[in-house]
Amino acid sequence: MHKHHSALGLATALEPVQPVTLLRPHAARRAARFFVEKFQGRSIYAVKANPSPELIQLLWESGITHFDVASIAEVRLVANLLPEATLCFMHPVKAKEAIAEAYFDHGVRVFSLDTHEELAKILEATGDATDLTLCVRMRASSNHSKLSLASKFGAEQSEMAALLMAARQAADALGICFHVGSQAMSPAAYTQAMARVRAAIVEASVTVDVIDVGGGFPSIYPGMEPPALEAYFWTIHQAFEQLPISYSAELWCEPGRALCAEYASLLVRVEKRRGDELYINDGAYGALFDAAHVDWRFPVKLLRANESRAELAPFSFYGPTCDDMDYMEGPFELPADVQAGDYIEIGMLGAYGCAMRTAFNGFGEGERVIVDDEPMECAYLGEQPDVERASNVVTL
Ligand SMILES: *Cc1c(COP(=O)(O)O)cnc(C)c1O
Repeated sequence: MHKHHSALGLATALEPVQPVTLLRPHAARRAARFFVEKFQGRSIYAVKANPSPELIQLLWESGITHFDVASIAEVRLVANLLPEATLCFMHPVKAKEAIAEAYFDHGVRVFSLDTHEELAKILEATGDATDLTLCVRMRASSNHSKLSLASKFGAEQSEMAALLMAARQAADALGICFHVGSQAMSPAAYTQAMARVRAAIVEASVTVDVIDVGGGFPSIYPGMEPPALEAYFWTIHQAFEQLPISYSAELWCEPGRALCAEYASLLVRVEKRRGDELYINDGAYGALFDAAHVDWRFPVKLLRANESRAELAPFSFYGPTCDDMDYMEGPFELPADVQAGDYIEIGMLGAYGCAMRTAFNGFGEGERVIVDDEPMECAYLGEQPDVERASNVVTL
């Protein structure tokens, strides 16, 4: 893979015709070190956020040893790449063939479930294994989060006790897991969920060995500036300490977005301007699915050798396909004189960006280049927003 010092340097030197994915390994390493050092429990990377093998490898090198996989393809990917990693199959609805292959061929011992049927399926597919860690997925509210994960999975509060008792019978280790929704904007999301966990444990009166608070740890985007991650960690740890569980119980989390959002950004070219609409060469079917379909706003920067002095103005984007839906409303703030031929960097696309690219309409190709400048936003600088002067950056 090519290397370049900065996004601007690359745009001006190479003037790429295709969109380029800019990778920042140092940013992913920094995020991983932060979780490993500051979260008082185990941090498990949710692979679906970005399954790129290079990223998985560098998270491993930075101390992430456990991976949350949701499909048999993700199991195979991580098992082949990192034979010593621990895989947790945390999708509550799995094919029995997937469970059997994960258990017998890839050594997976951690599974989640949210029904009695799934519990029976796991036991059957593993030949009534006695070495399983079974995590019962509890429904949690997504009301503090930008993207809901509340309606699809999770046992209701009223179903938890019976499910916990049944899973306890079968499990070597019993866990409770939940997901507060992605991009949780307040630590209160976890406080609420932990109160439900407490109620479920009390009602079932079973011994619980693992509390898994899932993902949802936020990254920084325009109009979405969450409290410091330390506040989330502190809140979760406080709630964990107060649960009626043994001293040896483990605390887990499953960050996806937070570990990789800063890892990648996208360099695009403006092919046409029509008023305040810019036609760019990547879009809804490329790395910008969330910008188009859930109106996610990403930070943008005009990359010109001679910086524009024009005031910022709001723009929306059209992607390259022939489809009207290939539209991203934004608003994306750029200098008012932006024009065809300009390059724009769209930041914070390491999570749920590059991972969702399709080849629709013949687009979707594009180079990947490593750069070593800073991502457009960084959640790992604590209270001190200045990258240069930050004293609490985790150094490597
Ligand atoms: C998607 C997902 C995650 C990661 O969520 P983020 O919001 O990206 O941190 C973690 N656990 C499960 C079970 C998920 O489905």
